[in-house]
Amino acid sequence: MRAPHRGPSEGRRYPDRVRTQPTSSTPTLFGGTPATTELGPTGRPRTEFPEPAPLESHGPARIITLCNQKGGVGKTTTTINLGAALSEYGRRVLAIDFDPQGALSAGLGVQAHDQPTVYDLLVGSVKDAHDVIVPSRVPGLDVMPANIDLSAAEVHLVNEVAREQILARVLRQVTGEYDVVLVDCQPSLGLLTVNALTAAHGVLIPLECEFFALRGVALLVETIEKVRDRLNPAIELDGILPTMFDSRTLHSREVLERVVEAFGDQVLETVIGRTVKFPDATVSGVPITQFAPGHAAAQAYRQLARELIHRGAAA
Ligand code: ADP
Ligand code: MG
Repeated sequence: MRAPHRGPSEGRRYPDRVRTQPTSSTPTLFGGTPATTELGPTGRPRTEFPEPAPLESHGPARIITLCNQKGGVGKTTTTINLGAALSEYGRRVLAIDFDPQGALSAGLGVQAHDQPTVYDLLVGSVKDAHDVIVPSRVPGLDVMPANIDLSAAEVHLVNEVAREQILARVLRQVTGEYDVVLVDCQPSLGLLTVNALTAAHGVLIPLECEFFALRGVALLVETIEKVRDRLNPAIELDGILPTMFDSRTLHSREVLERVVEAFGDQVLETVIGRTVKFPDATVSGVPITQFAPGHAAAQAYRQLARELIHRGAAA
């Protein structure tokens, strides 16, 4: 067993994230500094992230919250496929559906109608978190499902003592058994999302490579700062993940260039391309890593898993 990990503020197992801002020598996507090495889509030299070593023991988990108040940017898709890729590398992963739409549960083939959900834990009608967790079809990847009940949670919890810390408290029961917990937020910055940020060691922001993508990121960053100030001083920005990138369009490339200009090395090197394989896989209730294991999109999520492990954001 590794040393117990009692709360987000004690994540010493993980080195500090790289936080350098872009410098004048940061190569731009088009032109700019001539580079001798091959550049990746973010305009930086491509890194081969090594295959991670197998883990000899499991837990305590690092909790990563996937958050962006804009809908349809790839939060759920990333939770599913990052979770699946991490479990391919032998990591024990718990994916938490924190959206009343229940898309994560459905995308992993879990029926959340006739079984307890994360809502029951939040409101206390189920006490033991183990009673809510179900296995997915991916070995090593478990799910804490949600359904439309969760839409009543914010109203229900508003008068609770320490209402922002309820998820963190619930998760403490199970983090010892997992290496990574991924929380898939709903598209809002309300109390549920604040709970997810308060429980987290790190936050991953999927950002669609689309013109209006940057709108709203300032508000999101402000919310994360507030949570850091008031509730969870140790929360780290694990990275911004460009999604739905289409290398054939100038538009996509320009948006990505702007994102890198604005956020520098906080933008992950891994970029997720746009492909219809994702909606297809979702309908069949399995991750793309199983639906189309050799597809570039499956490889991209494996690279994301390796990059996060390499950066110290996952075990
Ligand atoms: P969010 O959880 O942020 O609302 P989703 O992950 O549910 O976003 O994605 C929204 C829609 O876009 C879904 O239908 C999903 O299948 C699709 N999608 C996600 N990622 C991609 C991608 N890289 N390429 C094409 N479609 C995608
Ligand atoms: Mg979603």
